Parts: sequence; C-alpha cells; structure tokens
Amino acid sequence: MKINQQFILFSLAVILFFGFMHHNVFAQTVTIEADDLLVRKGPATTYEPIGHVNQDESYPLLDETDDWIAIDYDGQTGWVSRQYVSIIDQETVTNKNLLDNESSSIDTSTGDLSNIDTFKLPVDRVHLRSEATTQSEILAVLSQGQKVTIVEKTNDDWIKVNWQDKSGFIPSWLIDYKSNKVNKLNSSLKDKVIVIDPGHGGDDVGTISITDNYEKKYTLYTSQILKNQLELLGAKVYFTREDDFYYALTPRPLLANYLAADVFLSIHYNSEPQHPSASGINTYHLKDADQDLASYVHQGLIDNTGANDRGIATGDYLVLRLSKRPGLLLELGFLSNDHEEKEIQSPDYQLKISEGIVEGLENYFSNH
Ligand SMILES: [Zn+2]
Repeated sequence: MKINQQFILFSLAVILFFGFMHHNVFAQTVTIEADDLLVRKGPATTYEPIGHVNQDESYPLLDETDDWIAIDYDGQTGWVSRQYVSIIDQETVTNKNLLDNESSSIDTSTGDLSNIDTFKLPVDRVHLRSEATTQSEILAVLSQGQKVTIVEKTNDDWIKVNWQDKSGFIPSWLIDYKSNKVNKLNSSLKDKVIVIDPGHGGDDVGTISITDNYEKKYTLYTSQILKNQLELLGAKVYFTREDDFYYALTPRPLLANYLAADVFLSIHYNSEPQHPSASGINTYHLKDADQDLASYVHQGLIDNTGANDRGIATGDYLVLRLSKRPGLLLELGFLSNDHEEKEIQSPDYQLKISEGIVEGLENYFSNH
C-alpha cells in the first residue's frame, strides 16, 4: 500500500479504537445478584480469581465490556460476570440517601454542601483518619473515584465521612464544590466534548524528573483527575491514551478532529536540568483563533495554583498543527525543580491544576 493509504487506515483504526474504548462509567453502582460470585483479575474466565462477592453487596462500577463488569474490589479492579449483577445509577442512590438521612444538609462557611451527601473522591490515595488530625490512625487508603458519604463538616479542615462500613475523617479540600448538582446543571461544560492527550507514554517516557520519575506518569495522573472533574460537570471526555502505552503523535489530534471536539488539550510537564530553579506554567496555542482559549485556561491555572506565570506563547507542536479543533498544549510545571516536583506529586496541588483548567474552560465556554 502507498504510505498515504497506510497512514489513513492506521489513523482510522486508532480513532475507532479510542472511540469505542470510552465508557461513561461515572456514578454507577454494581449490585451483586448471586452468592459466592467469583471476582477475577480480567474480563474472561481465563483470568485468575482474586476473591468472591455475595448477594446484595454493592460496589462502585469502574469499567465494563459486553459480558463483564469491573468493580472496585477493596481498592483493586476486579471483574465479575455481567449476568449476575445489576447496575444502579447514582441518581437513584443519592435520592435514597437523601430520604434516609434528613439531616444531610450541612452549613459551611467555605462552600454550600447542602446538595452534596455522596461524592466521588477526586484524587488517589486519600487517608481516612480516625480523628480530625494528620497524627491519628489511618483507617483506610481510598482510591480516586470511590464514593464517600458526608456525615458532618467537623471544622474548616476536616470532614467526617462514611465509607463502606467505616467512619472517619478526610481533609475538607477534597470536596469538590463543583460537583454540586446545581452547578452541574448550570455548567457551561455540560455536553462539551473534551479530548485530553496525556503526553508521552510507553517507551516515550517524556522528560525525567529530578527524582527519576517519568513525565508520562505525571501527565496521565493529571489527565485522570481532570477527566473526573470535567465529567462531574457534564462534559464528555475522551483520552488519546488511557494507560502506559506508546501512541504515535499523529493520531492524537486526529481523534479530536474525528469527534469534532470542542477542545483538545495536550498535557505535559517541563524540564530544564541546566536551570534547576526554573519553575511555572506555560500555555501554548498555535492558531490565532485559539488565543482566547489560551488566555482563559492559563488564567485559571495561574489563579488556582499560584504557580510562576511563564505566560502564553505560540508553539508549533505537531499535535497542535494537526488539530483542526481548538487546541492547547499545557506545560504544567518543572520536573527538574525539586520544590515544584514535590508540589506536582501532591494530590491537593493536582486538584488545583485541574480546577484551574476547569475554571478556564468554563469561562471560555460561557463567553463563546
Ligand atoms: Zn512532554
């Protein structure tokens, strides 16, 4: 085949693959309808069993195929046969909780929690503590996407929550006020198609940090948090890669073109080992038409993170050149800077990055 034909077929295959890979799994619970049902490592009977679940138990839904459902099985991903489960939307669960618990309204000085009684954790590795202090015992380590029920707001720093059969405290900054249903209905992000490109992957590790971590790991981490936040506000989010695999640069923006995405965002981290003090955030666009998008997102990032403002510039990156949709490439901080890498590793800073991007996109869509 001619190179051109090969390229087109390959691109199309990649696009179809990504297109069908996306499952909207937000806000669903799996109820088991059999006793002693095997939980397996993967979606086939050939995968090793990792445990059992029983009638009427409920688990967060993580993923699905035609025949199998992935559940959050004590912090691991476990697969069960679709035949023996039913899937319940969060709407149903939330309404039920509201009826069960009349006192779920919480008055708070930092945000209106009155409509939130159950929420998904926006980041990974959250410590559920026995007391409202970081010195207390860790009862459990919770994963991103797991649901907790708010019991009460203890003070400005801590919230008491229930998780499975445990009751404990988590830091209050974890509550995403934007997940409030009212905001969700009003958000300018509702039904917007966002393609996120977690930079690098697989053999292409990106830059290497001062602590020998790879950029590809951080870009995926940030992208996952961002995806969660955007979906809470009703956006439809697609990834150019969902795991640690190498995908060529060319198909990445083509996915955005194919989906007629409202925005294409390529997520990166920076490095300048010869200038270890270099720090801050750069926002790049290529087309003049994307200047406005760049301003909103960059402003949101700087406002929310307080990072060094390295400004907006035009960047002739391949992923931006091939994108026919509004697109940005974000360099979200320096992995060669000791202090900045520590920030980037912390879940609360990651949340600030995501909230900055979300705020910028909301402002952009409200004005376009
Ligand atoms: Zn990069």
